[in-house]
Amino acid sequence: MDNIYAAGDVVQFKNKIEGLWNTAMEQGKIAGANMANDTAIYQSLIPMTVFTAFDMPLFSIGQIDKEPCQHPDCGSETVPYKQVFKENDAVCGAIVFDTVLAAAPYKEAIEQALPITTLMEV
Ligand SMILES: Cc1cc2nc3c(=O)[nH]c(=O)nc-3n(C[C@H](O)[C@H](O)[C@H](O)COP(=O)(O)OP(=O)(O)OC[C@H]3O[C@@H](n4cnc5c(N)ncnc54)[C@H](O)[C@@H]3O)c2cc1C
Repeated sequence: MDNIYAAGDVVQFKNKIEGLWNTAMEQGKIAGANMANDTAIYQSLIPMTVFTAFDMPLFSIGQIDKEPCQHPDCGSETVPYKQVFKENDAVCGAIVFDTVLAAAPYKEAIEQALPITTLMEV
Protein backbone atom coordinates (compact mmCIF):
# COMPACT_ATOMS: atom_id res chain seq x y z
CA MET A 1 0.00 0.00 0.00
CA ASP A 2 1.54 3.30 -1.08
CA ASN A 3 2.51 5.89 1.54
CA ILE A 4 1.33 3.82 4.51
CA TYR A 5 4.07 2.87 7.00
CA ALA A 6 3.78 0.97 10.25
CA ALA A 7 6.00 -0.62 12.90
CA GLY A 8 5.62 -2.47 16.18
CA ASP A 9 2.56 -3.90 17.86
CA VAL A 10 0.19 -2.59 15.20
CA VAL A 11 1.93 -4.68 12.51
CA GLN A 12 0.83 -8.10 11.33
CA PHE A 13 3.61 -9.84 9.38
CA LYS A 14 3.04 -13.23 7.71
CA ASN A 15 -0.30 -13.53 9.54
CA LYS A 16 1.34 -12.97 12.91
CA ILE A 17 1.60 -10.04 15.34
CA GLU A 18 5.11 -10.50 16.70
CA GLY A 19 4.56 -8.15 19.66
CA LEU A 20 8.22 -7.86 20.75
CA TRP A 21 10.40 -4.81 21.25
CA ASN A 22 13.30 -5.99 19.06
CA THR A 23 10.98 -6.56 16.10
CA ALA A 24 9.27 -3.21 16.79
CA MET A 25 12.66 -1.46 16.66
CA GLU A 26 13.73 -3.23 13.46
CA GLN A 27 10.38 -2.52 11.80
CA GLY A 28 10.73 1.13 12.86
CA LYS A 29 14.12 1.38 11.16
CA ILE A 30 12.75 -0.23 7.97
CA ALA A 31 9.64 1.99 7.94
CA GLY A 32 11.75 5.09 8.56
CA ALA A 33 14.17 4.21 5.76
CA ASN A 34 11.31 3.72 3.30
CA MET A 35 9.69 6.99 4.40
CA ALA A 36 13.01 8.67 3.57
CA ASN A 37 12.93 7.22 0.04
CA ASP A 38 15.38 4.43 0.76
CA THR A 39 14.31 0.90 -0.14
CA ALA A 40 14.49 -1.46 2.81
CA ILE A 41 12.70 -4.78 3.25
CA TYR A 42 11.82 -6.22 6.64
CA GLN A 43 13.03 -9.76 7.31
CA SER A 44 11.72 -11.68 10.30
CA LEU A 45 13.99 -11.58 13.33
CA ILE A 46 14.42 -14.48 15.72
CA PRO A 47 11.88 -13.68 18.46
CA MET A 48 13.28 -13.44 21.97
CA THR A 49 11.83 -12.64 25.38
CA VAL A 50 13.76 -12.11 28.60
CA PHE A 51 12.24 -12.20 32.06
CA THR A 52 13.29 -12.27 35.73
CA ALA A 53 10.95 -12.96 38.64
CA PHE A 54 11.81 -13.92 42.24
CA ASP A 55 15.52 -13.83 41.29
CA MET A 56 14.86 -16.47 38.63
CA PRO A 57 16.01 -15.39 35.16
CA LEU A 58 14.62 -17.02 32.06
CA PHE A 59 14.49 -16.41 28.34
CA SER A 60 12.77 -17.86 25.34
CA ILE A 61 14.12 -17.71 21.83
CA GLY A 62 12.88 -18.80 18.42
CA GLN A 63 9.79 -20.90 17.76
CA ILE A 64 8.56 -22.52 20.96
CA ASP A 65 5.40 -24.05 19.51
CA LYS A 66 7.23 -26.82 17.65
CA GLU A 67 8.24 -30.35 18.67
CA PRO A 68 9.87 -30.50 22.16
CA CYS A 69 13.19 -32.36 22.24
CA GLN A 70 12.98 -35.36 24.60
CA HIS A 71 16.72 -35.92 25.05
CA PRO A 72 17.80 -35.65 28.76
CA ASP A 73 20.24 -32.82 27.89
CA CYS A 74 17.64 -30.56 26.32
CA GLY A 75 14.27 -31.79 27.51
CA SER A 76 11.99 -30.62 30.28
CA GLU A 77 13.62 -32.85 32.95
CA THR A 78 16.78 -30.75 32.97
CA VAL A 79 17.67 -28.85 36.16
CA PRO A 80 17.54 -25.90 35.95
CA TYR A 81 14.68 -26.20 33.50
CA LYS A 82 15.46 -26.05 29.81
CA GLN A 83 13.34 -27.12 26.87
CA VAL A 84 14.67 -27.08 23.33
CA PHE A 85 12.29 -27.29 20.36
CA LYS A 86 13.05 -28.80 16.99
CA GLU A 87 11.74 -28.82 13.48
CA ASN A 88 12.97 -31.55 11.12
CA ASP A 89 15.64 -32.39 13.74
CA ALA A 90 17.06 -28.86 13.58
CA VAL A 91 16.99 -26.51 16.58
CA CYS A 92 14.20 -23.94 16.15
CA GLY A 93 13.59 -22.62 19.66
CA ALA A 94 14.22 -22.90 23.40
CA ILE A 95 12.94 -21.89 26.82
CA VAL A 96 15.79 -21.71 29.31
CA PHE A 97 15.90 -20.76 32.98
CA ASP A 98 19.10 -18.74 32.70
CA THR A 99 20.21 -15.20 31.97
CA VAL A 100 20.29 -13.81 28.47
CA LEU A 101 24.09 -14.29 28.53
CA ALA A 102 23.42 -17.99 27.96
CA ALA A 103 21.40 -17.36 24.81
CA ALA A 104 24.25 -17.18 22.27
CA PRO A 105 24.56 -20.90 21.42
CA TYR A 106 20.79 -21.22 21.03
CA LYS A 107 20.65 -18.17 18.76
CA GLU A 108 23.46 -19.53 16.60
CA ALA A 109 21.84 -22.98 16.40
CA ILE A 110 18.47 -21.47 15.39
CA GLU A 111 19.98 -19.07 12.84
CA GLN A 112 21.94 -21.86 11.19
CA ALA A 113 19.26 -24.56 11.69
CA LEU A 114 21.90 -26.74 13.33
CA PRO A 115 21.03 -30.33 14.30
CA ILE A 116 19.59 -30.81 17.79
CA THR A 117 22.73 -32.73 18.82
CA THR A 118 24.64 -29.42 18.74
CA LEU A 119 23.01 -28.43 22.03
CA MET A 120 23.32 -31.71 23.87
CA GLU A 121 26.17 -30.44 26.04
CA VAL A 122 25.09 -26.79 26.46
C1 LIG B 1 4.01 -6.18 30.41
C2 LIG B 1 4.74 -6.30 29.10
C3 LIG B 1 5.95 -7.01 29.07
C4 LIG B 1 6.64 -7.15 27.87
N1 LIG B 1 7.82 -7.84 27.85
C5 LIG B 1 8.52 -7.93 26.72
C6 LIG B 1 9.78 -8.61 26.69
O1 LIG B 1 10.27 -9.17 27.68
N2 LIG B 1 10.46 -8.66 25.52
C7 LIG B 1 9.97 -8.08 24.40
O2 LIG B 1 10.64 -8.15 23.36
N3 LIG B 1 8.78 -7.44 24.38
C8 LIG B 1 8.03 -7.34 25.51
N4 LIG B 1 6.82 -6.69 25.51
C9 LIG B 1 6.30 -6.16 24.23
C10 LIG B 1 6.95 -4.84 23.83
O3 LIG B 1 6.88 -3.92 24.91
C11 LIG B 1 6.18 -4.28 22.62
O4 LIG B 1 6.16 -5.25 21.58
C12 LIG B 1 6.83 -3.02 22.09
O5 LIG B 1 6.94 -2.06 23.11
C13 LIG B 1 6.00 -2.47 20.93
O6 LIG B 1 6.48 -1.20 20.57
P1 LIG B 1 5.51 -0.18 19.88
O7 LIG B 1 6.37 1.01 19.57
O8 LIG B 1 4.74 -0.82 18.78
O9 LIG B 1 4.41 0.20 20.98
P2 LIG B 1 4.60 0.88 22.40
O10 LIG B 1 5.95 0.59 22.99
O11 LIG B 1 3.37 0.49 23.16
O12 LIG B 1 4.59 2.42 22.08
C14 LIG B 1 3.40 3.07 21.71
C15 LIG B 1 3.48 4.47 22.27
O13 LIG B 1 2.42 5.25 21.73
C16 LIG B 1 1.88 6.03 22.76
N5 LIG B 1 0.52 6.38 22.36
C17 LIG B 1 -0.59 5.62 22.37
N6 LIG B 1 -1.65 6.30 21.92
C18 LIG B 1 -1.21 7.53 21.61
C19 LIG B 1 -1.84 8.69 21.10
N7 LIG B 1 -3.11 8.73 20.78
N8 LIG B 1 -1.07 9.77 20.88
C20 LIG B 1 0.26 9.75 21.15
N9 LIG B 1 0.89 8.69 21.66
C21 LIG B 1 0.17 7.59 21.87
C22 LIG B 1 1.95 5.15 23.99
O14 LIG B 1 1.90 5.93 25.16
C23 LIG B 1 3.31 4.51 23.79
O15 LIG B 1 4.35 5.26 24.36
C24 LIG B 1 6.11 -6.56 26.69
C25 LIG B 1 4.90 -5.85 26.73
C26 LIG B 1 4.21 -5.73 27.93
C27 LIG B 1 2.91 -4.95 27.95
